[in-house]
Amino acid sequence: MTDDCRNEWRGRVRDFAEHRVRPAADGWSLGNSPSRDLFEEGAALGLFGIEVPTTLGGRGLDLAAKIKVSEILAAADFGFAMSVINTQNVALRLSASAPDRIRDHFLHDLLAGGRSACTALTEPGAGSDLAAIATTAERSRGGWTLNGEKAWIINGRHAGLAVVFAQTDPAAGLRGIGGFLVNLEAAGVDRYAIDSAFSQTSMGTGGFVLSSVQMSEDHMILPPGTAFRTVLEEINGARTYVAAMCCGMLDAAIETVSDYGNRRAVFGRKLKDHQAWRTVLDEAKTELASIRALTTEAMRTISMGEDGRLAAAQAKIAAVETGQRQLPALLHAMGAEGLRPEHCLARHLAAFQAAALTDGATALLKQQVAKLSTPTRPLPGA
Ligand SMILES: Cc1cc2nc3c(=O)[nH]c(=O)nc-3n(C[C@H](O)[C@H](O)[C@H](O)COP(=O)(O)OP(=O)(O)OC[C@H]3O[C@@H](n4cnc5c(N)ncnc54)[C@H](O)[C@@H]3O)c2cc1C
Repeated sequence: MTDDCRNEWRGRVRDFAEHRVRPAADGWSLGNSPSRDLFEEGAALGLFGIEVPTTLGGRGLDLAAKIKVSEILAAADFGFAMSVINTQNVALRLSASAPDRIRDHFLHDLLAGGRSACTALTEPGAGSDLAAIATTAERSRGGWTLNGEKAWIINGRHAGLAVVFAQTDPAAGLRGIGGFLVNLEAAGVDRYAIDSAFSQTSMGTGGFVLSSVQMSEDHMILPPGTAFRTVLEEINGARTYVAAMCCGMLDAAIETVSDYGNRRAVFGRKLKDHQAWRTVLDEAKTELASIRALTTEAMRTISMGEDGRLAAAQAKIAAVETGQRQLPALLHAMGAEGLRPEHCLARHLAAFQAAALTDGATALLKQQVAKLSTPTRPLPGA
C-alpha cells in the first residue's frame, strides 16, 4: 500500500471514529452496547484484518498501522478500540498458525464483523501469575478436552471464537501451557458478562466456563513450550498499542476541555482567559507530548526487530499513569459539565483504570523495567 493510500485509509478510519463511534459511545457510558451495524462498518474498513495478509482478505498492513488505528479508535472509545483490536489479533493468529480447514471456517466471518473473538489467559484465580492457570487440556480420543474458567476477557460475552491458554502438564509449569482455538458456540461452553462502571460494555468484557469441551488435535495452534514464548513476544506490541490508546484518550480529553474553555465564561471572562485554569491544559499537553514520544520509540524498536521489552513497558507505564493523573484534573476543569456522558472524560477516566491492568499490570511492568534497566557492567567510577 502506498503512503497516499495509507493516509487516505487512515482518514476514513478517523471519520468512522469521530462520526460513528464517538456519538454512539455516549450511550455506552450508560450501559448500552455497540450495535452490530457499527462492527459491520468497521469490517468494511478492514479493521478486523489490519495485519492479515491481503491474499486472505485482510489489509496486509503492519504493527505500526495497528498502533495508529488503536489510537484513533480509542480517542472515541477505549472499549470499542480494544474489542476491535482483540478480534483482529485472533484473525491474525488464525491466518498465521491455524490449519487451513479451521482458518477457512472462521476467518471470513471475523473479517466481515459477523462474529468477534478473544484471547483468554486470565482466570478467576490467576491473572498476573500466568503459571498458576488452572484450566486444563487433556488428551482424549485423538483430540483434546478442556475444563476450566476464564474471566475478565475482552469480547468474552459475545465472542464466537477464543484462543484459550490451558495447562497440558501441571508439572511443567509455564512450559506446559498450550494455546487452543475454542469455538465458544460449542457444547460445554457457558458464557457470562462482567458488568461494572469500569469494564465498559463496549469492551464486551465477560468470562466463560469450559466443561469437558471437546476438540480435534488440530485446534491446538500454539503447542506447549512455544505458547508462553509467543505470548511474551507479542505482548510488547500489545503494550505499545495500549500506550497509543492512552495517547488518543488524553488527546481527546484535552480537546474537549479546550473547547469548553472557549465557550464557558466565569467572572466575566472565558475560562481559557484565566491563567490558573489554562495551566491544567498546558500540563496535560506537555505530558501528552512525552508519552507520545515514548510510544513512538516503542513502536520503532519493535518494528526494527529490536528487543522491545523495556521500551514497551516504559511507554505503557508512563501513558497509563499520565492518564490516571491528568483525567481527574481535566474532568475537574469542566466543573459539573465534565461528568455528562456526552463528553468523553468519565469514560476515558474509567478506561485508564482498565488499561492499567490489561496486557501487564503496572506493578509488574515496573518490576520488569527495574530488571531490564539494571546495568550489567559497573557504572564508571563505581
Ligand atoms: C477490562 C479488562 C479487560 C481484560 N481483558 C483481558 C483479556 O482479554 N484476556 C485476558 O487474558 N485477560 C484480560 N484481563 C485481565 C488482566 O490481564 C488482569 O487483570 C491482569 O493480568 C492482572 O491480573 P489480576 O486482575 O488477576 O490481578 P492480580 O494478578 O491478582 O494482581 C492484583 C494486584 O497486585 C499487583 N501485583 C501482582 N503481582 C505483584 C507482585 N509480584 N508485586 C507487586 N504487585 C503485584 C497487580 O499489579 C495488581 O495491582 C482484563 C482485565 C480487565 C480489567
